[in-house]
Amino acid sequence: MKVTEYFEQAKGETLVSFEVLPPLKGGSMQAIFNTLDPLMEFKPPFIDVTYHREEFIYKKRESGYYEKTAIRKRPGTVGICASIMHRYGVDAVPHLICGGFTKEETEDVLIDLNFLDISNVLALRGDAMKFEGKFLPRSGGHEYAIDLVKQIEAMNTGKYLDDNIENGEKTDFCIGIAGYPEKHFEAPNMEQDMYWLKKKVEAGASYIVTQMFFDNQKYFDFVDLCRKNGINIPIVPGLKPVTKLYQMNSIPRMFYINFPDALVKEFTKAKDAKARKQVGIEWCIAQSKALKAKGVPCLHYYTMGDVKTIKSILEKVY
Ligand code: FAD
Repeated sequence: MKVTEYFEQAKGETLVSFEVLPPLKGGSMQAIFNTLDPLMEFKPPFIDVTYHREEFIYKKRESGYYEKTAIRKRPGTVGICASIMHRYGVDAVPHLICGGFTKEETEDVLIDLNFLDISNVLALRGDAMKFEGKFLPRSGGHEYAIDLVKQIEAMNTGKYLDDNIENGEKTDFCIGIAGYPEKHFEAPNMEQDMYWLKKKVEAGASYIVTQMFFDNQKYFDFVDLCRKNGINIPIVPGLKPVTKLYQMNSIPRMFYINFPDALVKEFTKAKDAKARKQVGIEWCIAQSKALKAKGVPCLHYYTMGDVKTIKSILEKVY
C-alpha cells in the first residue's frame, strides 16, 4: 500500500514509522531484525531503509603510492526492503539517491522494486562524497532529486528511458522527498529552498519527510511556510534523540541543524553519561507528545540501531 494511503486511512491519528540503515558489508540481516523486532509492537505501517553510495578509500601499495578504490560500505537496501516486507508484512520504503547512479542503473533498480511489489520510494539527491567539495553526479546521472522524481513519475506513466519501448508497464510508485525545517545547507535562503521543494512536489512527490529537528517550532513554521507556498502534501517529522555528549557537535555538523539552548544547557549540566542520555530521551518524548497532540501524520524515528532508546521513548508516547 502507498504511504499516503496509510495517512488517509489513519484519519488524523498519528502513525509511527522507523528508518533503518543497512548493516556494514559483511554484516547479516539479523542486525536489522534485532533493531526492528522490539519495535514492531508499535505497528509501523512502513519502514524506511537508507541508501549509501560508494566511498573512496585509499590503499597503500608496496610502491608507496596510494591506490584510490571505490567501495560501497552499506549495500543491500533493496534486499533488506524485500526481507522486511516478507518477515513483518508491512511496507518498506527504499531510499533512492542520485549519487553514484546513472539513469539506466536507476531505471533497473526501479524495475526490481516494481517486480518486488515495493510501491514506495523516498527520492533523494545524496551528499557529496568524502574528499569532494560538492555533490557531483555520476556521468549520465541526475544532478538533483527533482530529476529522480521526474524519472520515477515518467515510469508511472509507462515511459522508460528507451524510446523504443511501447506500452511499457506503468509502475505505481508513491514518491516521498526530503524537506528541511532549518533549510538545506546549500540553499542560499529559505525562499530558494522552498522554491525547489515546491518544484519537486509539482514533479510528482506525494509526501515530505523532514530532516531531524529538536525544536518543534521549527517544524510548525516549516509546515506553515509550505502551506503558504501551496505545498499541501503530508509533512512527516523526522525525529532522533540526542543521547551522547559528542553528538552536541557532530549532529549540527553532519545535519546542519541547531540545538535549542534549553536542550544544550540541560544536556551539558547533566552529571554523567546516563543522566545525559535521560535528558535526550525526555526531550524526544516531549517533542513526540507535542507533535502527536497537533495531529502530525506520522512520527518518523531515525533509529540508527539504538532500539532500546527508541522503544523507551515510544512506550511513553503511545
Ligand atoms: P535536492 O532536493 O536535490 O536539493 C539539494 C539542494 O539543491 C537544496 O539546497 C535545494 O534547494 C537545491 N535544489 C534542488 N533542486 C534544484 C535545482 N533543480 N536547481 C538548483 N538547485 C536545486 N542521503 C543519502 O545518501 N542516503 C539516504 O538514504 C538519505 N536519506 C535521507 C532521508 C531524509 C528524510 C533526509 C532529510 C535526508 C536524507 N539523506 C540521505 C540526505 C540527503 O541526500 C542530503 O540532505 C542531500 O544533501 C540533499 O538531498 P535532497 O534530496 O534534499 O536534494
